[in-house]
Amino acid sequence: MAELTPMMKQYLDLKQEYPDCILMFRLGDFYEMFFEDAETAARVLEIALTGRNCGLKERAPMCGVPYHAVDSYISKLIANGYKVAICDQLEDPRAAQGIVKRGVTRVVTPGTVVENSILNESENNYILCVHYGEQGRYGISYCDVSTGEFVLEELEDDTALFNEMTRLNPQELLIADSHAKEFLIMTGKTRFKNTFVNPYFDWAFEAKAAEKALRGHFKVSSLKGFGCAEMVLGVCAAGALMQYLIDTQKNALLHITTLRTLNERAYMILDPNTRRNLELTQTLMENSKRGSLLWLLDKTQTAMGARLLKKIVLQPLKHLDAINERLDAVGEIRESIYLRESLADSLKHVYDLERIISRISYGSIDAKDCLSLKRSIGILPELHKLLGETKSVLLSRLYSGLDSLQDIYELLDSSISEDAPAGIMDGNIIKPGYDKEIDRLISASKNGKAWLAELEAREKEETGIKNLKIGYNKVFGYYIEVTKSNLSQVPYRYLRKQTLVNCERYITEELKEMEDTILGAEERRKAIEYEAFLKIRDMLGENVGRIQSCAARVAFLDVLQSFACVAYENAYVRPEMADDGLLDIRNGRHPVVESIRRQEFVPNDALLNDDTQNMLLITGPNMAGKSTYMRQVGLIVLMAHIGCFVPASSAHICLVDRIFTRVGASDDLASGQSTFMVEMNELANILNNATPKSLLILDEIGRGTSTTDGLSIAWASVEYIINNIRAKTLFATHYHELVELENMFDGICNYSVAVKEVGHDIIFLHKIVKGGTDRSFGIDVAKLAGLPEEVISQARIFLDRLQEYEISLNGLPRERKEEKPENPSTSALPAYIAELKNVNIDTLTPIEALNLVYSLKKEL
Ligand code: ADP
Repeated sequence: MAELTPMMKQYLDLKQEYPDCILMFRLGDFYEMFFEDAETAARVLEIALTGRNCGLKERAPMCGVPYHAVDSYISKLIANGYKVAICDQLEDPRAAQGIVKRGVTRVVTPGTVVENSILNESENNYILCVHYGEQGRYGISYCDVSTGEFVLEELEDDTALFNEMTRLNPQELLIADSHAKEFLIMTGKTRFKNTFVNPYFDWAFEAKAAEKALRGHFKVSSLKGFGCAEMVLGVCAAGALMQYLIDTQKNALLHITTLRTLNERAYMILDPNTRRNLELTQTLMENSKRGSLLWLLDKTQTAMGARLLKKIVLQPLKHLDAINERLDAVGEIRESIYLRESLADSLKHVYDLERIISRISYGSIDAKDCLSLKRSIGILPELHKLLGETKSVLLSRLYSGLDSLQDIYELLDSSISEDAPAGIMDGNIIKPGYDKEIDRLISASKNGKAWLAELEAREKEETGIKNLKIGYNKVFGYYIEVTKSNLSQVPYRYLRKQTLVNCERYITEELKEMEDTILGAEERRKAIEYEAFLKIRDMLGENVGRIQSCAARVAFLDVLQSFACVAYENAYVRPEMADDGLLDIRNGRHPVVESIRRQEFVPNDALLNDDTQNMLLITGPNMAGKSTYMRQVGLIVLMAHIGCFVPASSAHICLVDRIFTRVGASDDLASGQSTFMVEMNELANILNNATPKSLLILDEIGRGTSTTDGLSIAWASVEYIINNIRAKTLFATHYHELVELENMFDGICNYSVAVKEVGHDIIFLHKIVKGGTDRSFGIDVAKLAGLPEEVISQARIFLDRLQEYEISLNGLPRERKEEKPENPSTSALPAYIAELKNVNIDTLTPIEALNLVYSLKKEL
């Protein structure tokens, strides 16, 4: 150690405090990394590895990145799973005596990124802290440090935790050391394995320490004001998270001004399957936003609005008044072209205030951000005026709570120059008139030439030396030059500086002062402008709370105008909400399918109530439109619960506590479960958790197993739902045997999708009609899919034979039998018939069909 250079010693001392991070060490215009960090960074960032003399025999491996481009390098390291500690110079190197003081100013982890280049502007970037409570309960807390949002919640069980984890999609998880292993085992088999899991000190999760961290940050004596004093588990999580943020973000937490307590009872729970199956924020197939409900509803004009919209779509409300308040507001905006257009026009000019606020807090705001902030604030009076003319409760509330931040506007307007550059050290930031000293310095450098000319004229006159002139050279600076012939006229106040062959050069007191002013002005101006800028930044820092609450109002207003705009453009209607158990949608449409499809969309009604029509059993061939129909009902109900108008000619929507979906079947490869197992897990979840106020959407239950097993499971599930749960249910199936159930239970109604047969061809009408179907049209659909004609005609022959067999064996066509179907494997059927019976034509691929026909033919 003794031989190390002082700077290297400083480096190693700091590195010791952050052993698990890559330490980026500021040296002049570069951030340098040394030793192992350098080797890792050089590899990951694909930059050259060099060496630096560190006092030891061998040079220290080193690599560096320029400070102005550091964001993109940080993002690459983060994306590769590393934590980065940023070490800055804590004093001006020019003023430093000896080695410059340095310290870590921030630790960047995936969940604490604030760099614009790394963040997606329409998504939140959360760090989530999970605290293990007793009896399987959890306290959780999450924060988006790029916006200042900070929330706590308490959850009942693993499922609720899983729900929230998938909703929030955190980039980083914070878990107490002693639970980290357990947590990794629990989530290791899920997609959370890609999330950065960060074990953290146990003590930070203890109630007392946690409360202290929160009280300390918010400077309050009790947490009562946040409504979470009784939520010990939530407080433990929030306190530990706060402690972690203090550790890693140092002083940059000004913008975390409040702690929100999420009340689970206020929101409808949407499990991950439902979010996925209804394609709320991304599509099933491509995982893209395009084609999702969020994509359709997103007519927001600001990044804040877009982020809030995503949250709102994933958190439908449960209270009638809250929903109606939103609907009133949306309705009011929708009705007025003026309001709609003016709001959209104004909001368009509002920048991402939330993220500007976080940059104020992190001290990384620049003049350009200040101008964006000023322009955004400049819009507030317009918004205020527009809201002043509204009547609905929600809009009036937004109006009365909207602070127009005029003082901040004036501060920025008077101080920051319109064409200020991004760098805050280079001057040209502050407007003339804001600071006298800066003005003086600016005019000093600008007016220097005129001053000199004026001085020259004055000196000529005073001394009478006609050819006297003022000049400048780099070594001696400014001088007055007098030719040898005029030396006798030189006054005493002239001090000789330099003698040349034909002339002497002098300096005067006044010229010296001028020289200082002119030459020093530029440098001093930069320094004073920088200081003035820091003061402005501090003033903004004192006002983050006010700016933040404006940002929240603007975001909400943006979402409401987005809903209004979508409602207007797509001719949606206001749903009539009631807590009466009646779901009556007339001419409903699927919002996304209707907007994407080129052909006309066929609207359909849906009627469900608590007694006579509690479950719709929908039969019909594949491709007829069953899934679309069921999803459309689910989406309309969800849209109503987020306060959005709906695609229908009219809609009476009852309050629903949860929407469950079981749609399609896809292998969960990540967890190694088979399609069937996934399907059964999902079904079990639904049957165990649904209530009479839930909406169930079940598509093709039992599809993942053999026909007979599948049919039996489907049958039994229907019976269980209608007897024990009585949740409003849409049940689509290609087992037309199930149509019997209508006669056996009150509340089940058969529906089917109309199909028109023209000779051997079928045409899908996409119309949902009362009554069941007795045919699956599987072969017809296969024909549409382009199966060779030979396969199709053979299949028809087999089908006819099968049907004949059934009639002769059982005496009655299957459709008319009263009891449940028996397992064909127990019947005495020829082997090939049994095989055919077990074939699910709907799921058969053309190749499989072809192979089957070959193998059957062999047996004939
Ligand atoms: P199923 O679930 O019965 O197999 P889908 O719901 O997947 O059928 O629909 C099949 C196709 O029909 C889809 O491409 C869809 O766009 C179209 N479709 C469904 N419902 C309608 C409708 N009401 N109007 C127009 N096209 C529809």
